[in-house]
Amino acid sequence: MANYDVVVIGAGPGGYVAAIRAAHQGFKTAIVEKDAKLGGTCLLRGCIPTKALLHSADVLSEIRHAKDFGIIATGEVDFAGVQKSRQKAVDKSAAGVTYLMKQNKIDVITGRGRLTAPHTVTVDGSDGKATTLEAKFVIVATGSVPKRLPFLEVDGKHVVTSDEILELPAPPKSLIVLGAGAVGVEFASVYSRFGAETTIVEMLERALPIEDEEVSAEFEKAYKKRGIKVLTSTKLEKAAVQGGKVVATVAGKDGGAQTLEAEMVLVAVGRGPVTKDLGLEALGVKVDKGGYIEVDGLMRTAVPHIYAIGDIVRTPALAHVASAEAILAVDHAAGKKVHPLKYRNMPSATYSDPEVASVGLSERAAREAGYQVKVGKFPFSALGKARIIGQTEGFVKIVAEAKYDEVLGVHIIGPHATDLIAEACVAIQLETTATEYAHTVHAHPTLTEAVMEAAHAAAEGRAIHI
Ligand SMILES: Cc1cc2nc3c(=O)[nH]c(=O)nc-3n(C[C@H](O)[C@H](O)[C@H](O)COP(=O)(O)OP(=O)(O)OC[C@H]3O[C@@H](n4cnc5c(N)ncnc54)[C@H](O)[C@@H]3O)c2cc1C
Repeated sequence: MANYDVVVIGAGPGGYVAAIRAAHQGFKTAIVEKDAKLGGTCLLRGCIPTKALLHSADVLSEIRHAKDFGIIATGEVDFAGVQKSRQKAVDKSAAGVTYLMKQNKIDVITGRGRLTAPHTVTVDGSDGKATTLEAKFVIVATGSVPKRLPFLEVDGKHVVTSDEILELPAPPKSLIVLGAGAVGVEFASVYSRFGAETTIVEMLERALPIEDEEVSAEFEKAYKKRGIKVLTSTKLEKAAVQGGKVVATVAGKDGGAQTLEAEMVLVAVGRGPVTKDLGLEALGVKVDKGGYIEVDGLMRTAVPHIYAIGDIVRTPALAHVASAEAILAVDHAAGKKVHPLKYRNMPSATYSDPEVASVGLSERAAREAGYQVKVGKFPFSALGKARIIGQTEGFVKIVAEAKYDEVLGVHIIGPHATDLIAEACVAIQLETTATEYAHTVHAHPTLTEAVMEAAHAAAEGRAIHI
């Protein structure tokens, strides 16, 4: 039996970051992972491969618009090459995590881990052998898997989840996407650009329902322009694979039903936590009805030396959130002075075309929280850099508190929104006012000027360049 200070179960961006942080704190650390490669959903089936596919689609879009910039280019697609590029990005990232484990002297144990006593993790290897690890602290980071629909079996060919759609040998000719959250709209963005006639079906009243309402409206407009149908307030009534295609009946809010047909349907209706058969409940760890592990603000479960982080707890299911929770949990175990995370300050990012990103409160959420609100907006169409690169769709919107001027939320739809949001994260973390933000000089000509201009609009009622 091997003894450790920290044993981490699961090597996604929650687990592997926890292991590295634990090693940095001087803990003797092991990480248990059931997959052959390290990196979890994010590296192997999520963030990295989707962004690689999106990048190929972006290159294609650039080539299609190259003529606008005086460049003649032909945009032929070699889809095998697209997949090769995705695989390369995944393999390099996974190898990077393996390297980090080695460099930090973290033992990697391959197999399925479960808690068999308060301080004991038993790992069932694929060879049928079990390994037992003793740990002072256990960090559970077993992540999530795609939710499925009970009446529509995933066959990997006509009915797929985000796992299967990554590795298609060829793009589908037509695609129905169930769910207009980040995962659904990103794949719609990829495959529509590779030629799939795409329809998104969303039960809620708008696409990207967690984003500011004006952003959702702009997003739907942009998708419509790109020929992607977005059916909101629309429920899937039934669906089946018939004669080599998917036939789906959907009904709108008014009850009117319509039939959709496509080569493929992507079920992107959310993800569920992986917490079964981990031996948690038997030890007193509380798991709620939805399968999520209950934790306090420091990621401690009901059993104080067992922490839970990432997609298995009811916090935003994002890689950077999982990693932040990892650092918090380990630092707490190491006896450092720590504070609960401010989830309101966590950015969200959707890497579609156009990109969407936000941090803080939407206008509606700010009003509902009782703030007196003022809003500043600046369109990319009024920005020199956006005109230079030919990407003038979208805007930056800043929501600020009316009396004290504090920036409460920043919402961006448009070019490089997912990178632009970083400065807004700093601003919000530092409790910046709209006036301070507006007078923070940004370089010209850059896309970042749109954020500064929106801050002028929020602080003083008007931007400079409009
Ligand atoms: C298509 C898609 C795109 C995404 N894009 C983004 C993005 O751009 N940005 C972003 O922030 N987030 C994105 N996400 C979300 C992100 O991937 C997750 O929030 C993140 O991976 C959660 O990290 P985690 O460590 O909690 O779990 P995971 O990454 O799911 O890792 C959990 C690991 O635990 C292992 N495991 C499970 N059970 C056991 C066991 N019993 N024993 C041993 N190992 C076990 C699993 O094999 C897995 O490797 C995306 C998700 C998807 C599906």
